[in-house]
Amino acid sequence: MQSFSQISSIGILSDMFCPLCKSEYRDGVTICNDCHIPLVMTSEQAQKSSVRTLWEGTDEKLFNQLTAALDDAGVPFTSELRAGPDQMIPLLLAFVLRLIFWRFGLFKGYAEKQKGWRVRVLSSDYSRTEEMVTGLRHAIEPELD
Ligand SMILES: [Zn+2]
Repeated sequence: MQSFSQISSIGILSDMFCPLCKSEYRDGVTICNDCHIPLVMTSEQAQKSSVRTLWEGTDEKLFNQLTAALDDAGVPFTSELRAGPDQMIPLLLAFVLRLIFWRFGLFKGYAEKQKGWRVRVLSSDYSRTEEMVTGLRHAIEPELD
C-alpha cells in the first residue's frame, strides 16, 4: 500500500488531462487520442488552458475541409457535433410542430437542419487558424447558388 502511494506521488500512475478537449486519461497515456497533443498533469492546468471556438456551423463540406486543413497544418483541434442547450429548444419545438402538422407534411427535416459542428482550437492557435476559415469560406461561397 505504501509503495503504491509512493509510485503515485511521483506521477507514474497519476491521471493526466488534455488541455484542449479536457479529457482525462490514465495508465501512462501522455498524448490525447483525439487532439494528438501532450497531456498535462492536473485538471487545473487543463482547465486554465484557454480554448476558443474557431468555427461553428451546419456546412458539412466546410467542416470537412476545415478539419482536413487543420490536420495538414498540424494544428491540434477538437470537434464535436453541436448538441448544446441552445439546440434543445429548437429540437423540442420541431418535434412538437411535427406532431401538430405532420398531416400537412410541414416542418419535415427541420431537426436535421439544426445538425451542426463546433471546431475548437487552443487560443494560442486561434489567430493563424482564423485565416484558414476565412480562406475556406471564400473558396466555397462562389459555388453556392
Ligand atoms: Zn484532447
